[in-house]
Amino acid sequence: MRCAKALQLTLAVIKPDAVAHPLILETLHQKILENFFIIRKNDLVWRREDSENFYAEHAGCYFYQRLVEFMSSGPMRAYILAREDAITYWRGMMGPTKVFRAHFTSPNTLRGQYGLTDTRNTTHGSDSIESAKKEIAFFFPEFAADEWMEREEPVFRLGLIEYNEQSKVHTLQETR
Ligand code: UDP
Ligand code: MG
Repeated sequence: MRCAKALQLTLAVIKPDAVAHPLILETLHQKILENFFIIRKNDLVWRREDSENFYAEHAGCYFYQRLVEFMSSGPMRAYILAREDAITYWRGMMGPTKVFRAHFTSPNTLRGQYGLTDTRNTTHGSDSIESAKKEIAFFFPEFAADEWMEREEPVFRLGLIEYNEQSKVHTLQETR
């Protein structure tokens, strides 16, 4: 993968409903690998307060309690992903929020294929440059996005990278 345009970062999450099924988790990882550079990956479990903080914008919504409970109900996986137009591209791969709609209008999307309910809908993705920045910092506080853009983005764009099967992320090629 070599890209002419600058790479963009986004935050992607595989939610607990999908992580609970190892085959679905692996399938989703492969689909991500086919379409993105994987910059960081972290398997984690949220405490309830993490869930409440992350989804604070939805506080008061009828589905908020259900959402907060679900997102702290079991393991999930977070990624920092890079490609051209990463934010829009990942949202496109995910499909519509509402699973009923996803099944009927976008059956080939991840939510169309694997979504269970409007809450247990398989994946999360940042929806703007601002939210990507905020959400990357939320999940990966030690990640210096500006520094990555300056130092590593140009090298990734040239494709001088390798995939590490163990850590399941892309890294810069070792200089020999
Ligand atoms: N959600 C829900 N019921 C709804 C709408 C949303 O349970 O009617 C949950 C669902 O898990 C969704 C999350 O709340 O992914 C955040 O909602 P948002 O509208 O931001 O959708 P997204 O950005 O995830 O597509
Ligand atoms: Mg959203």
